[in-house]
Amino acid sequence: MLKIALPNKGRLMEDARSALGDAGLEVRAAGDRALVASLGDEFTALFVRARDIPEFIADGAADAGITGWDCVAESGRVLESALDLGFGRCRLVVAVRRDSTTTVANLAEGTRVASAFPRLAAEFFAARGKRVHVVPVSGAAEVAPHLGIADVIVDLVSSGSTLRVNGLVEAETVLESSARLIRRPRAEMTEDAARSIDELAVALESVVRARGQRYLMANVPRAKLEEVRAVLPGLNGPTVVDVLGGAFVAVHAVVPQREVYRVVTRLRALGGEGILVTRIERLTP
Ligand code: AMP
Repeated sequence: MLKIALPNKGRLMEDARSALGDAGLEVRAAGDRALVASLGDEFTALFVRARDIPEFIADGAADAGITGWDCVAESGRVLESALDLGFGRCRLVVAVRRDSTTTVANLAEGTRVASAFPRLAAEFFAARGKRVHVVPVSGAAEVAPHLGIADVIVDLVSSGSTLRVNGLVEAETVLESSARLIRRPRAEMTEDAARSIDELAVALESVVRARGQRYLMANVPRAKLEEVRAVLPGLNGPTVVDVLGGAFVAVHAVVPQREVYRVVTRLRALGGEGILVTRIERLTP
């Protein structure tokens, strides 16, 4: 059984479980607090801290896992990203107090930088020829400037509202991150294990592709088919099915969610009826 390390809490855990569920891999745990669960028939899920997942995989305790790219980069371990899952988007940024004139360019030597990402913070400033003193913290770096622990922080942001509430502003981006399916380097795996992880990546990729897409079915007048084709973007154009003996044909197409409103309105204007829009769990072209 291959072991897949998954985040044990928060949004990342929920989104990872939901993507795996849509891929047909249900997590079946003995209880809410179980650290191990079955994942489909082929995998075992291990629930660990998102930050520890790269170490687990690099050390061989798990074969692959889902975690933020920020965690992988901070770990400094050599791992492969098999797939960008698109959720958990955030940026690691340098932030300073709103009332300060400090920028990365004018940073004074010896400036104290608080961060839960000490490796990435140190690398970032070193690459710019800045000698700083990195103060490692395990979280809540945004309070450090107010406590006099540091002048600058390097922290994760998504909307930026936590920084704003704490009177801080972004100065520069260190790293863009999102959740990834990560794996040990292929050369370190048996052929069978590598193939299983490839299949997992293909399944999850089909889930990522389906996000934001809807499946639309409608009966439209045969005489209007050319105009209907112009309305429906479709993956490969709409599938057209004869409706027995009728003046109507059924069209099926994949439509981006943001275009559903416009497409349905246009189809109705063309005499379309019986219009059905459903979610898609997986999409493999
Ligand atoms: P945590 O549960 O706080 O340890 O966060 C785990 C991971 O969630 C982080 O390492 C990021 O990959 C991801 N994440 C996504 N958005 C955010 C955010 N706004 N703040 C913190 N972490 C985030």
